[in-house]
Amino acid sequence: MASAGQTHDVLIVGGGPVGLTLALAPVQSARGIRVGLVDRRPLSVPRDNRASAIAAGVRRVFEALGVWPDMAAQSQPITAMRITDSGLGDISRPLFLSFEGDVAPGEAFAHMVPNRVSGQVLLDAVAAQIEVIAPAEIAARESDARSAWLVLADGRVLVAPPVVAADGGQSALRQMAGIHVVEHDYRQTGLVTTIAHELPHDGVAYEHFRPAGPFASLPLPGNRSSLVWTESSADAPRFLAMDKAALALEIEAVMGSTLGAVTVEDDLAGFPLRMRIARDFVATRLALVGDAAHVVHPIAGRGLNLGLKDVAALAEVVIEAVRLGLDHGGDDVLAHYQGWRRLDTSAMAMVTDGMNRLFSNDAAPIRAVRDFGLGPGRPRRPHQGRHDPHSGGGLGQWPEAAEWAADLARPPRQRLDLIRLHAARFIQTQQRHAFVDGEGQARGH
Ligand SMILES: Cc1cc2nc3c(=O)[nH]c(=O)nc-3n(C[C@H](O)[C@H](O)[C@H](O)COP(=O)(O)OP(=O)(O)OC[C@H]3O[C@@H](n4cnc5c(N)ncnc54)[C@H](O)[C@@H]3O)c2cc1C
Repeated sequence: MASAGQTHDVLIVGGGPVGLTLALAPVQSARGIRVGLVDRRPLSVPRDNRASAIAAGVRRVFEALGVWPDMAAQSQPITAMRITDSGLGDISRPLFLSFEGDVAPGEAFAHMVPNRVSGQVLLDAVAAQIEVIAPAEIAARESDARSAWLVLADGRVLVAPPVVAADGGQSALRQMAGIHVVEHDYRQTGLVTTIAHELPHDGVAYEHFRPAGPFASLPLPGNRSSLVWTESSADAPRFLAMDKAALALEIEAVMGSTLGAVTVEDDLAGFPLRMRIARDFVATRLALVGDAAHVVHPIAGRGLNLGLKDVAALAEVVIEAVRLGLDHGGDDVLAHYQGWRRLDTSAMAMVTDGMNRLFSNDAAPIRAVRDFGLGPGRPRRPHQGRHDPHSGGGLGQWPEAAEWAADLARPPRQRLDLIRLHAARFIQTQQRHAFVDGEGQARGH
């Protein structure tokens, strides 16, 4: 069966941003390698008004593949992040956390890349180098000791030592392999649009925490920003039905005077939000990457970044095996990939989940402890040190651990609030690390 089909060295299913990037990696590094890319739809630039915050460490994946200059030309560096928390209706937004800064001197910690731009640049690069098999529907996936093969609905058979599932959150290949997922429905909708505004953003990203959930304003080239915010699934239809003028008033009520008067440019789009993590990232001759392996809450803009780190890890282990003449779809190689990516993914899923729970809540005591814990210039306990940006994110710091332990002795109500406070500090530190996210982390070192 396997020998009767069309043979590749690597077969990738799914031509979203993760699958396209992965397709480019082997051909850059291993001359003559045959990569096939399968998608159920004809590949074209996505009709997607979102923009993705790409962290500095992850951006280096695009740099290594030679596609970054074309993306950078139409992207906006993020030079600082400001976080505000206040009731609605206030004209100015009190600032409670701010971090500025570079990863290296002069290097922004993230760039906002419009999804249409990254899609176009990746598609152009793929068209020049990769065999695309699309549109094609996969009817079955099988494997034996030497190969995996895909049977297409039109009867064609495609064969490769590893097949990679980059077919998104509903991954058919993951289901065919019988890999289960851990799942949580947030009962929230992610709302996305683009605005033009009166005042310059100066490269600053703003996150406003509101009772319904976080509201992020992320800078785009010019006086424009990409907005992503969450509403409960019950309330989202009200926003989706608004005309652009009414929506602009709602947006100004959240942002206060931060960016002046706003004009809504795109129709509002809504995305139901779930967390979905695959219990295994590999099966026999199959590796999951991107949303096929993990879907996380978009609160920290991490989903695609995680997927691109999967790409870096999988490409490295596969190319290394090809160079050494090993079976690059074998269990050892795929286990190495899984070991590399699982911990980082589950940590990020917990961080984004925790941030969403903590900040989608208007209970006055919770806001009070958030303000107390995160506000600039608020008194610190005498033993509380500054977080070292190069540390593991605060958990390893003894003073902090001692505070957590002391709080366990307090009455239950107080204890809950204090635990939320410490969680807020920890999560915030993690978020900063998530943005900075150096190359060492992307390479799993
Ligand atoms: C509101 C919102 C904002 C976000 N903002 C950010 C951000 O700022 N930064 C960030 O890092 N991430 C962000 N994300 C997450 C990011 O969008 C996703 O993680 C990313 O798009 C996943 O890419 P992918 O290639 O894995 O999957 P997809 O983009 O879903 O692509 C899957 C591909 O597989 C194909 N396919 C599906 N099924 C099959 C099949 N059976 N056979 C063949 N082909 C198939 C599809 O046609 C598609 O081309 C956000 C998400 C949301 C919802």
